[in-house]
Amino acid sequence: MENPQPGMRVLVPLGTKQMVGIVLREHTEPIPDSIRLRDVIMALDEQPAVNSAQLALWQWIADYYMCPIGDVMAAALPARVCDRTYSFSPVKKRRVRLPEYIGEIEDIHPLNDEQQRAKQEILQAWQTQETVLLHGVTASGKTEVYIHLIQEQLVQGHQVLYLVPEIALTTQLTDRLQRVFGDQVVVYHSRVSDGLRAEIYRQQLHPQPRLIVGARSAVLLPFSGLGLVIVDEEHETSYKQQEPAPRYHARSAAIMLAHQTGAKVLLGTATPAVETYHNALSGKYGLVRMTHRYQDIELPRVTLIDLERQYHRREMYGHFSDPLVDRMREVLQAGRQVILFQNRRGYAPQLQCVSCGQPPRCPNCDVPLTLHMQAHELRCHYCGHARAIPSICPACGGELRVRGFGTERLEDEVAQYFPEARVLRMDLDTTRQKTAYQDIIDRFARHECDILIGTQMVSKGLHFDDVGLVAVLSADHLLNQPDFRAYERAFQMLSQVAGRAGRKGQQGEVIIQTWQRDNGLLLHVLNHDYEALYQEQIAEREQFHYPPFYRIIELTLRHRDEQSVVEAARLLQRRLQGVFAERVSGVVVPSIARVQNQYIRLVRLRIEAGANIVRAKQMVAEQIDYVQTRHKRVQIIADVDPQ
Ligand code: ADP
Ligand code: ZN
Repeated sequence: MENPQPGMRVLVPLGTKQMVGIVLREHTEPIPDSIRLRDVIMALDEQPAVNSAQLALWQWIADYYMCPIGDVMAAALPARVCDRTYSFSPVKKRRVRLPEYIGEIEDIHPLNDEQQRAKQEILQAWQTQETVLLHGVTASGKTEVYIHLIQEQLVQGHQVLYLVPEIALTTQLTDRLQRVFGDQVVVYHSRVSDGLRAEIYRQQLHPQPRLIVGARSAVLLPFSGLGLVIVDEEHETSYKQQEPAPRYHARSAAIMLAHQTGAKVLLGTATPAVETYHNALSGKYGLVRMTHRYQDIELPRVTLIDLERQYHRREMYGHFSDPLVDRMREVLQAGRQVILFQNRRGYAPQLQCVSCGQPPRCPNCDVPLTLHMQAHELRCHYCGHARAIPSICPACGGELRVRGFGTERLEDEVAQYFPEARVLRMDLDTTRQKTAYQDIIDRFARHECDILIGTQMVSKGLHFDDVGLVAVLSADHLLNQPDFRAYERAFQMLSQVAGRAGRKGQQGEVIIQTWQRDNGLLLHVLNHDYEALYQEQIAEREQFHYPPFYRIIELTLRHRDEQSVVEAARLLQRRLQGVFAERVSGVVVPSIARVQNQYIRLVRLRIEAGANIVRAKQMVAEQIDYVQTRHKRVQIIADVDPQ
């Protein structure tokens, strides 16, 4: 057998099993006796199944995010490609059939002056910079600018990768792209069937101008002649993979992919991540702005309502303040629609005992159970555990009261106070079926319903022509997160939700209810003042040693036995402190310290942005290995740049 080349799939013996592996490189150095060699059973391909640019990116991800390259491979290859019986040849001249082909091809819209200027500035910036941030207010028409840039790339015979935070939430976008670019568009994400994923993968091995639209993992596909990567809504946290490894950030991976292949990157958003904006201001990225909405529609008028005052005066209907109810009535009467945003699903976040003050908790996780009225049960949002609703407190037998509210409870209240209105609810519970999300969007867009109630799902880049009012029932939950990114996130979320108001023809209106009327963050939302938010946040980040001034590496230890995990965490903390001194936190007990019966402890490291991070990671890895050999059954996970 000839030596298989890097990137080829081979069948290899592993214990008593035979596994599919990928050849990384040919080994020419002498091999120490301690390493036992086994023969490759056979090569499965005549051509590499993974190209060299891909391998380089996988290696970078494995190194940067401190995980085995095998984990990256598992995330990158469609399941079917990992099957030994899968064959890349014979290559059929078959194109991917689009699941729902859209017949009519639509013309590309001409850009308006501001969009035209932005496009020229982007092209200009790419002369000297690989990555450009397009900071454009909601509905400024960023998508139209992308479309013009994509068209130029495709005409030149290049490939384009268009990353979106969550593909299920972007059907309006993919429809539009398919109408403009026809069958050059390929949509790639985890809900695409196994067979289709493998077919898309196979076709990507054969260079052809193509627009790949996909979520995070699309960045791991093979590309040839890649000209441009667009990262839309670049601030979205779903770009970072949490579980399992590789815990990579698709934005960072996209920038690295483009760097390695000579492509350009465009990051687009109305509310940049603080890190991204910092890079743009410091000149590392190009910066292009769009400050006007398409057709000069004004940004929505935002009003804050002081819940403390409203409750004090008893001017509330359930969770709706008097002024909100009045405005909703007027807007509905005028024949327009209303979006109600509450970022909690279920009926209420918890039941609480009036005697002992305790909520019924999950037996497997250290969290209160969430009340789901329609399903008649309490549910854990971490492990899915469900139980019947107890009539009395399980701990002391006291009376249980409902505390807080989720989308389900809002739906009940809307039915009570707006009996005539037609209502739809959009959250994880109502969109479990494949087409449910799309159905809700379509029905709301066709104005078959007057009020849409939803979680953050309703904030995602949707356009509805008739929405006159967007209301945030309570901003407080967003403001009170124990996280250094809480305000940044709250600003992003509230601005995005507000962006759903007033899209066609007239200024929209946003009402935000809150107990923290004087919170400065809300003032920035009111003034659409990203700059002010950024200046405050970056000053805090510098003062308290957070990114982008410091890099965080978070080490999570998990085990079923609390004592074991505590001992391992203490040992790891001491060892790291020996190397990194004050850059290491103490052993942190996280706010949710047990999930699915696993106890959790954390140790955090902060490394100066200018330090030798490669060396630092090596030293961290050595200490993890040291602790791992002494605590074999404790799981130790590294998360680089945790979100
Ligand atoms: P953003 O992504 O900046 O929030 P979009 O690109 O989605 O904004 O544009 C908002 C709305 O304006 C969409 O309905 C879009 O079709 C419309 N629009 C934007 N630019 C143009 C244009 N040049 N010609 C026609 N319609 C446009
Ligand atoms: Zn649980």
